[in-house]
Amino acid sequence: MTQNVLFLLVLVAALGFFSYNAQRLVRYLTTGHDEHRTDHPWTRLRNVVVIGIGQSKILREPFAGILHASVFWGFVILTLGSIEILARGVFPAFGFDRMLPTPVHGLFLLSQELFAGLVLAAVVVLLYRRLVIKPRRLQGDKVHSGDAVFILSMIAALMVTLFLSATFDRVVEARHAAAFQPISSVLALVFGGVSPGTARSIATASTWSHALLLLAFLNYLPYSKHLHVITSLPNTFFSNTSGPGQVGVMRPMDLEAEGVETFGASDVKDLSWKNLLDGYSCTECGRCTAACPANITGKPLSPRKIVVNVRQRTMEIAPLLKGDRAEAAHAVLAGGEGDDAGGGTVGERVGHRLLDTYITEDELWACTSCRACVQECPVSIDQLDVINELRRNLVLTESRFPEEIQPAFEAMERNGAPWKFQPADRGRWADGLGVTTMAEFAERNERPDVLFWVGCMASFDDRAKKIAVAFARILNAAGIRFAILAQEESCNGDPARRMGNEYLYQMLARQAIETLDRYHVTTIVTTCPHCFHQIGNEYPQLGGHYEVIHHSTYIERLLQQELVPLRTENGKQLVVAYHDSCYLGRYNDVYDAPRETLKRALPVVTVAEPPRNRSRGLCCGAGGGRMWMEERVGKRINVERTEELLGTGADALAVACPFCMTMISDGAKALGSDVPVYDIAEVVAGQLER
Ligand code: SF4
Ligand code: SF4
Repeated sequence: MTQNVLFLLVLVAALGFFSYNAQRLVRYLTTGHDEHRTDHPWTRLRNVVVIGIGQSKILREPFAGILHASVFWGFVILTLGSIEILARGVFPAFGFDRMLPTPVHGLFLLSQELFAGLVLAAVVVLLYRRLVIKPRRLQGDKVHSGDAVFILSMIAALMVTLFLSATFDRVVEARHAAAFQPISSVLALVFGGVSPGTARSIATASTWSHALLLLAFLNYLPYSKHLHVITSLPNTFFSNTSGPGQVGVMRPMDLEAEGVETFGASDVKDLSWKNLLDGYSCTECGRCTAACPANITGKPLSPRKIVVNVRQRTMEIAPLLKGDRAEAAHAVLAGGEGDDAGGGTVGERVGHRLLDTYITEDELWACTSCRACVQECPVSIDQLDVINELRRNLVLTESRFPEEIQPAFEAMERNGAPWKFQPADRGRWADGLGVTTMAEFAERNERPDVLFWVGCMASFDDRAKKIAVAFARILNAAGIRFAILAQEESCNGDPARRMGNEYLYQMLARQAIETLDRYHVTTIVTTCPHCFHQIGNEYPQLGGHYEVIHHSTYIERLLQQELVPLRTENGKQLVVAYHDSCYLGRYNDVYDAPRETLKRALPVVTVAEPPRNRSRGLCCGAGGGRMWMEERVGKRINVERTEELLGTGADALAVACPFCMTMISDGAKALGSDVPVYDIAEVVAGQLER
């Protein structure tokens, strides 16, 4: 009886302290601004089931994935047993054996045994991996390795005490059929010689230890990176990967909102509560950083560090802003969560901010916006969202950006393209091809089937112009009534938006929408994945709604319908390595159409896959405005990618993006390779009947 009262007091104190911490952490989230994250509830629930409970993303890396998923699933199952143990601590007569039919209770016992064994085995391997194998992605920046080892040891201790309790319970009294507790019953045979009194003492001590460890574990979580045990499922639910057409879309920005003097984010108070929840949810697994092209090639950017920095800064400033003096003092004295910022008094720490104190400009400008980090994160964190918001602040509020992008901003503003080309020359690539403009169609009071949005690269860059020509030839051969805007087209604004210049982006986008709406355009085809994504997915924020089709999908459809007259003779067997564009693949899930197009155009073609392909494809290095920035640090990303493509031994390389064309061609040149690089449209156009 005394024991039960004592346990009740411990339980109430532990749950009370946990509740205090839970409300404190929820309150800290309100340091960030509000954001609506409950639309598309069914998609969100599906994400929780597939990504959260099904662990689909964590299993992308099979070995570590199985280990972590085992611990997660084990915890879910073992929670039932934990509830029974805690309840029994207060009410000794409580037990599922009294509530459940014997076979069902037997299954419950079996599940507890098997999952406890699975969790223990997984934890031992995870400890070995972390302490002995030391994988690269678990090393380096912002990895709290001691914390991870402590938590893994605690989980192991929880499992060991669970087994000890069940084993010595059986030694005292063989209560259940052995089949239901295969591990403990074997252990009970091993320890069968222990006297009943000793066995009872060990069983009681193990049960108490297990219960106390469990409560200690629960209360340690809010102070540990393992807070994700609690936050990962809600984080997945609220993730902005939910909802059709929202993948990779930058958040809208009201530039004319009253009273707003700063734009983007310089500190956590400028981020949303969801960005801060991301910080709570990071497991520090490093999957994002291991996939980041900037990090891989030696740039000073680690998406894991960005997220951990958000958590550190939140834990530093939120207690001050929310009036938690004790916690604020703790943050200063510990210097732990705010260790980037060094020591200092509370007052000094108020002078800190996320930008500069924690995250440098160089880190931000190294990002190619490839979304590999977002794709890989097992708990659906959006690292890129933070980078984009900080870039917006740098450009719009502080006018700080690499000097080499100034000419691109100026050219977009004056010439409607990120280079100093004359708008009047935009349609020159089509000279002699008999291509009709929208204005000419309108003059005849007619409308084309589709508008071919050419994009700046294919309009002005000599190599990329050949892609536009090839695609126009395919459209003509298939009898498609299409038009171009020629000098009425301008940059869609994507480079400006990705480089943080939302003013310029909105100016260009509104201008484009005005032109498209004036011609009542409904369907657009384009060879550029950036135009495809921007116009199709981000223009709706400004009121532009169009069906936008990338040329890989459009050509595949034409080939499927046998509308493109191709030569049928078989040539020599050709191996082509295809490079996935980030804005086509990870942003828009278009992986098969370019591959199918290649195969349909050349029946003798074999599509070779580099080791990193499809959703794991390595960026070419041009996105996020990197096309206009010098790459001064580390290995060039395009060289790294081209090496992988050439490593397949392919006869030719294929791309489906004019930016990738430039980067991969330059990569091949730098590596002294004469393997040709084609756009998929050029491959198809090369097979057209003459
Ligand atoms: S978007 Fe790409 S380049 Fe940027 S941080 Fe993520 S993985 Fe790295
Ligand atoms: S952000 Fe996601 S992928 Fe990156 S370390 Fe954290 S949990 Fe892992």
